[in-house]
Amino acid sequence: MDSRIVGILGGGQLGRMLVEAAHRLNLRTIILAAPKSPAKQINALHAHIDGSFSDPKAILKLAEECDVLTVEIEHVDTKVLEELEASSKVEVQPSWKTIRTIQDKYVQKSHLASNGIATAESLSVESNTSAHLEDIGRKFGYPYMLKSRTLAYDGRGNYVVSGPESISDALEVLKDRLLYAEKWASFTKELAVMVVRRKDGMCISYPTVETVHEENICKLVYAPAAVSALIQGKARMLAEKAVGSLWGAGVFGVEMFLLEDGELIINELAPRPHNSGHYTIEACPTSQYEAHLRAILDLPLHPHSTSLATPSTHAIMLNLLGPSYDIVARKALEVKGATVHLYGKDEAKKARKMGHITKLSIRFNRLLMQQTQIS
Ligand code: ATP
Ligand code: MG
Ligand code: MG
Repeated sequence: MDSRIVGILGGGQLGRMLVEAAHRLNLRTIILAAPKSPAKQINALHAHIDGSFSDPKAILKLAEECDVLTVEIEHVDTKVLEELEASSKVEVQPSWKTIRTIQDKYVQKSHLASNGIATAESLSVESNTSAHLEDIGRKFGYPYMLKSRTLAYDGRGNYVVSGPESISDALEVLKDRLLYAEKWASFTKELAVMVVRRKDGMCISYPTVETVHEENICKLVYAPAAVSALIQGKARMLAEKAVGSLWGAGVFGVEMFLLEDGELIINELAPRPHNSGHYTIEACPTSQYEAHLRAILDLPLHPHSTSLATPSTHAIMLNLLGPSYDIVARKALEVKGATVHLYGKDEAKKARKMGHITKLSIRFNRLLMQQTQIS
């Protein structure tokens, strides 16, 4: 299909599913991650690189072996990616500029605002002091969301400041981190759209889905979202506009809030495949993982290949979190047509994403919901 070698920074579940998609098209990948990471476990074609995606030396080593570098996580060293992109030794997709803009959530918010894209109003936290956070409380009202600008995932890095009395706890939890504050978004639903950005900047979106978070972590995804066709269309247009403002090729996850007045604002972007797009493996002709590979390698992608397989296709995706994941996964094996994905992670720590289940029918939804009660 293509003889170029794709280097992937990071080897978690998203990397693992990228490798699965690459295998089917006979595309070659090399992983930079810790030894025995989920993505390495299923790819014996190459000697992979042991190390961290935030270590410049390890990234340079990976670059020596590859033609195109891409990421499955945004918390990478972008300085070395900038140097590599300038040297033309290796292609970096999406561009380091996109990854750097996204990896600092406050820079990301400012970028979106300056491109006329609606987001929750944000303020930079200049000093991690009670006086400053009280000042923000007077401006935003309570509750407001305090967020780490960098290295945030699965809600680790967020703190809901419910009133002046919770400021000292917030500072205790997020001490030493670079912070910013966001106005509270009173949303009725959380929506997400995966967008494929081609090398020429053209964007193709997947259907609008609903994500359900519990304790800041994504638990369920419903595809398509149970909102009007108008809102589904508006969400896709907003997502395409946001991704259109960035640089380089790949798939992007766009998380949004649907507000009480029907308006949509962006929560955050991810420059890579995304949890809300796992369902595309079973529900769409081309999955988000394959679409990412096709985009970064500039291979063709029919615009309808990102639609649901049929107009009546519905999917539900359930994340398997923490120690009880195996019990739910085993139950799902008994269910007709359920697809179980396990990531090969060693330690099933509390709230850790260990796998997921996708099912393409409404009837199963209720059954699956009942089964998750045991977890
Ligand atoms: P991930 O990268 O895993 O999606 P994260 O750590 O980057 O998560 P966010 O997406 O910023 O965290 O926030 C996690 C969840 O917290 C959101 O999905 C939403 O439920 C809630 N949340 C975030 N920002 C706000 C806000 N301004 N107002 C209300 N709720 C919010
Ligand atoms: Mg995030
Ligand atoms: Mg998020």
